[in-house]
Amino acid sequence: MNADTFGFDPAEILVGGTWRAPEGGGRLSLEDPSRGAVIGEIARGTAADIDAAVEAAGAALRGPWGALAAAERGRLLSRLGRLVEQNIEHLATLEAMDVGKPLSQARADARALARYLEFYGGAADKIMGEPNAYLPGYTVYTLREPHGVTGHIIPWNYPMQIIGRSVGAALAMGNACVLKPAEEACLTALAFARLAEEAGLPAGALNVVPGLGEEAGAALAGHPGVHHISFTGSVPVGAAIQAAAARNVVPVTLELGGKSPQLVFGDADLDAALPFLVNAGIQNAGQTCSAASRILVQRDVLDEVTERMAARYAALRTGPADADLDLGPLISGAQKARVEGYLSRGADLELAACGEVVANAPGGGHYVAPHLFAAVPPGHPLAREEIFGPVQTIIPFEDEAEAIAIANGTDFGLVAGVWSRDGARQMRLARKLRAGQVFLNNYGAGGGVELPFGGIGKSGHGREKGFEALYGFSVLKTVAALHG
Ligand code: NAP
Ligand code: MG
Repeated sequence: MNADTFGFDPAEILVGGTWRAPEGGGRLSLEDPSRGAVIGEIARGTAADIDAAVEAAGAALRGPWGALAAAERGRLLSRLGRLVEQNIEHLATLEAMDVGKPLSQARADARALARYLEFYGGAADKIMGEPNAYLPGYTVYTLREPHGVTGHIIPWNYPMQIIGRSVGAALAMGNACVLKPAEEACLTALAFARLAEEAGLPAGALNVVPGLGEEAGAALAGHPGVHHISFTGSVPVGAAIQAAAARNVVPVTLELGGKSPQLVFGDADLDAALPFLVNAGIQNAGQTCSAASRILVQRDVLDEVTERMAARYAALRTGPADADLDLGPLISGAQKARVEGYLSRGADLELAACGEVVANAPGGGHYVAPHLFAAVPPGHPLAREEIFGPVQTIIPFEDEAEAIAIANGTDFGLVAGVWSRDGARQMRLARKLRAGQVFLNNYGAGGGVELPFGGIGKSGHGREKGFEALYGFSVLKTVAALHG
């Protein structure tokens, strides 16, 4: 049934240009979260498969992949981007089935993947070192070289976008990649690898080994043949990966969670702000690292913002991915239980509004209606901890100083938004907010692949996206010639 449903067999792994079963032939079941039904099987990759994939990546670097001109790498990635573009519907359907994402949001992810490949395809031959004006008698310059074998461990919430920003940039820089997708979201990674073959990517430049985090993921993170690890996921796993990489003295990029705020001041253009306030909380059912789960509102507009957000919430509909409503299901029963646990911890709070799960939503699906809480104290667990579900908290503040203290008052620092017409305040807050990205009178800037992205504090370190990612996926070498 596997191949008929998906157009390929998802129980195979890709190592060195060959699709095959994992060592030992293990499999994991594949669930459709909209129905809670098993719809197929994926491979349970092992440490032995990771060994083989790292070996194959090394061989690719010593072989045709390593010998390619930067411009040719760029052409390959651009061709791959066009293939992704031509297969948006297929990729979006797979993603919707696998992670429960409403179809139009899955299409947006596929378009973003194509755009990453277009961007990094164009950038591949434009990243270079520079001459250095050193002492007379010397000629000195720097070179930017690939790390070598890069490991990519990604989560289930935006597989296509994260493949684009991480694998896309690493390949553009000339690394050879081993990708371990999340157990709950492998289909688009596998479909992407097939398109990469079709585009002509040499064998071993991209290897894909699905499997369990503690098995395949841990084997990749601690592998002595890996030269750089890019991880996107939770804080505890990120810390474990950094520790594993440290034993091999290997650099890591960590894109972890967030508890990101949008600050709404009394002088804000509320008509402009409203759609951003709500969408940034409920997109992908709130399972977004950069979700605006905290809405900080100045007292003089608190009632108005609460009422207007509540009116939008009351109209939100949750249902199966193929119905393409505002929200789909959560990824799993475990994630649903986790979010419901937070909702019970919010029983002492004032519920401003709650959306609905449509009556005909399939019974086994992992649905949680979106919840908006009013006037939440900043110290409450719902206002401090990452919930990773469709739950937003409105937190009142009196003045700018208090807004900054609350905004910076969590362990995280991924992104922040500010809504105010006061230009001086915008500039002050852009500097004072602890976050990797600050948005002034918008939130997310449309996702821009050009914009360096990453966190501070428990949100992680290192930057992906934009040109900055190419620096992260490369090593700077200094060459000094003494010629007199
Ligand atoms: P997760 O449990 O940390 O898993 C992420 C990846 O790590 C998965 O591929 C997982 O594999 C793997 N993994 C698990 N244990 C591992 C181990 N011991 N060694 C190596 N790999 C291991 O996170 P998640 O639940 O999938 O994703 C949700 C979290 O990711 C949230 O906290 C969210 O904020 C964060 N996130 C951050 C960003 C960002 O850019 N900052 C983006 C998206 C998500 P399996 O799933 O197969 O076990
Ligand atoms: Mg799934």
